[in-house]
Amino acid sequence: KVLAAESGSSKPTGKLESSGLSTGTKMNATFVSLTRNSDLWDIADSIRNVEDRFNRNYHYDWVFLNDKPFDETFKKVTTALVSGTARYGLIGKEHWSFPEFIDQEKAKAVREDMAERKIIYGDSISYRHMCRFESGFFFRQPLMNEYEWYWRVEPSIKLFCDIGFDPFVFMAENKKIYSFVISLFEYAETIPTIWDSAKKFMKLHPEHIPEGNAIDWLSDDGGESYNHCHFWSNFEVGNLNWLRSKAYLDFFEVLDQDGGFFYERWGDAPVHSIAAGLLLKKEEIHFFDDIGYWHVPFTHCPTSEQKRLENKCHCNPKDNFDWKGYSCTTKWFEKNELKYPEGWEDQKD
Ligand code: GDP
Ligand code: MN
Repeated sequence: KVLAAESGSSKPTGKLESSGLSTGTKMNATFVSLTRNSDLWDIADSIRNVEDRFNRNYHYDWVFLNDKPFDETFKKVTTALVSGTARYGLIGKEHWSFPEFIDQEKAKAVREDMAERKIIYGDSISYRHMCRFESGFFFRQPLMNEYEWYWRVEPSIKLFCDIGFDPFVFMAENKKIYSFVISLFEYAETIPTIWDSAKKFMKLHPEHIPEGNAIDWLSDDGGESYNHCHFWSNFEVGNLNWLRSKAYLDFFEVLDQDGGFFYERWGDAPVHSIAAGLLLKKEEIHFFDDIGYWHVPFTHCPTSEQKRLENKCHCNPKDNFDWKGYSCTTKWFEKNELKYPEGWEDQKD
């Protein structure tokens, strides 16, 4: 659904004629950031990046979600920085706590074991609630229910290029559902049995698995085992109706019941990625090469020099992660028979 751009937008800070915003159509879309009050200055940095490179010309809303109430300083500063309407949601306990079927003793033993094995966030309870929330609940918060499209933004990210087009419009016009800028291998220790659950789901719900999905990007042996490739979900532009669909919710339910958010340390990135790879047709997943991006410690910098210059990118092309050994983007190009950009081979490590 394309909405007409609001003429009397509450805070008209940008000029609409710049950066190729031609049609004046605006999507029913929002930015969304899950943050703590203590993330204020790190999310402020991200907002400033997104506004300067894109949203000052578009004024999309920004939804902030938190498991605790946002304080006045957080709201005051972020409202001032966002050129659209900034909105604040408090997450209900039922979306940020242990489900009753989880065995607390077992979960605790796992955390202690992972702490000893020095697995990143392995001892953290809040990180697990966060991953489960981002996997199964952010898209059905009351505020999010008002939108069809989202763009996830985390604290302390950087955008390196002007975004002279509307990624939401692009997604809609090209029938895209999910997108990424960086893909890589997941730490195997955090997801030992996630593929068992995925296979269980495929058996239970063959009706949700379309022909021509991207399973060959997730598995190198025809679906028997997981190769650990995933899209990095700290950046996502996607369709909320897909996440709210029966297919996705059935998928989340099977995984949730198996308990791996707490008995292992499943991240929302492999959850979203496996869902996208199984439930969508592969051409519904988009790689946004034009969006230069950094989240510690990886960079996506467009390979094409022409693209970098046209879009005023300030990233060092040497830092581009796309074609390095730990990236799964090379495999994505291969499996989708995409045209590799000129110079890609020079950027391998
Ligand atoms: P990493 O990128 O995997 O290292 O994890 P982050 O620390 O960046 O957390 C992922 C996202 O969840 C970020 O947007 C954080 O601000 C947010 N987040 C993490 N833990 C919590 C928490 O306990 N409460 C809230 N409200 N947000 C959190
Ligand atoms: Mn992060």
